Amino acid sequence: MDVRPPSVDALARTLSDLELPQPLLVDAARDAIAAGDPGSARSRAERRARMLLHPVVNATGVLLHTNLGRAPLAHHQEAGAWNLELDLESGRRGSRQHHAAALVARAAGAEDALVLNNGAGAVLLALTVVAGGRPVVVSRGELVEIGGGFRVPEVCALSGAPMIEVGTTNRTRRDDYAAALADTPDAAAVLKVHPSNFRVEGFTASVPVGELATLGVPVVADLGSGLLDAGTPWLEGPPPPWLSGEPAVRQTLAAGAALVTFSGDKLLGGPQAGIIAGRADLVAACAGHPLARALRPGGLVLAALQATLLAYLRRDGVAIPFWRMATASLDDLRCRAARVADAVAAAGERPDVVDCEAVAGGGTVPGLSIPSIGLVVHGDRRAALRLADPPVIARMEGERTLCDLRTVDPAHDGVLGQALAAVVPRQEGRLAPERVAHADWEAPGRSAAGEGR
Ligand SMILES: *Cc1c(COP(=O)(O)O)cnc(C)c1O
Repeated sequence: MDVRPPSVDALARTLSDLELPQPLLVDAARDAIAAGDPGSARSRAERRARMLLHPVVNATGVLLHTNLGRAPLAHHQEAGAWNLELDLESGRRGSRQHHAAALVARAAGAEDALVLNNGAGAVLLALTVVAGGRPVVVSRGELVEIGGGFRVPEVCALSGAPMIEVGTTNRTRRDDYAAALADTPDAAAVLKVHPSNFRVEGFTASVPVGELATLGVPVVADLGSGLLDAGTPWLEGPPPPWLSGEPAVRQTLAAGAALVTFSGDKLLGGPQAGIIAGRADLVAACAGHPLARALRPGGLVLAALQATLLAYLRRDGVAIPFWRMATASLDDLRCRAARVADAVAAAGERPDVVDCEAVAGGGTVPGLSIPSIGLVVHGDRRAALRLADPPVIARMEGERTLCDLRTVDPAHDGVLGQALAAVVPRQEGRLAPERVAHADWEAPGRSAAGEGR
């Protein structure tokens, strides 16, 4: 039996006001005593608490910030049973792919679709099934690294498909593919990969999916970002200019891709998921592969994805948090920024309201930015802002700390103001920073985009 020195327990009890389970408080107390510094127990426990998952305020201006969970998502699910794999009509076992996946297919104009855990899993499964161990032809300009250890040559190797590289880093032509296919009669497919997180400029050439589709083998297109339709029918008005050039699911399939793969939590704005969409026979073959079982998503993810897809089918982009923040008007952002700056000025120095540039992030639309509005304060205040509750994640712009309003949920304007008030120079006779947020805080200009949640 583990007999603890009583002092560990006694020290842990002094921490019981912290919202951590007893075993973690005991760990902090024990570590502090072992380090010969019992007084550090509280700060150790607080550090341990900060390591847990928390909601944070994304003021970075990166809409799909990989470190902040990419697309923001509001989804709540009651404890209870769901018809996850039950066909309610027949009473027999159904498929967990019949809900969200069917909606993805409907919204993207695909014959069928399959939902997996993440985009990397979708690529791996699609290649494994379509190639079946036979060679796959891919352009040297598309042997990319997406980040987080996802490299196209390695995924090809893992899928068991020998890779036949064609073209050069900057230029690949249709003839390059045709020659490789003529030399490799058993080649199974052409793989087209969207170089999501960089841009090659200058003397470049690549082959559109429409031309690859005439080569006589299936084209698998790894789109990555999951822009559902280049026409963005879920938005009012024309597609935003920063989307230009981003390949879209519907148009890539219409151009002749046999399968496309993409993530659920990039431009689709849903939960972390990977999607394979396209030809029904190939999707069925993917669904029947043992890897599909290993990569299958849970009911929470499928329910959140279903809600996202229903919003697309209703053409209700405002209901999708990513599109709401991506399309907020500059006037709205300016109004909110001024309001936050005024609130901060009640405690100390007023932050400046500046024009700035947000980016989509998450390995989408590289090189393109979205005009935005930010609040700047002098010096590097990022660490102090991270200590706010909830933590505020800002970025540096030159010598100043910038909080970009585009990525901040309007509901968090109050806490952003409070966090900034605590880091700007105090001014005599003003409010204490923690009194800055008004009880009646309601951001102005909170148009339809702010409601409807
Ligand atoms: C993001 C991305 C992936 C990986 O998707 P995850 O959902 O992050 O696993 C694969 N391919 C491309 C082109 C991507 O942009």
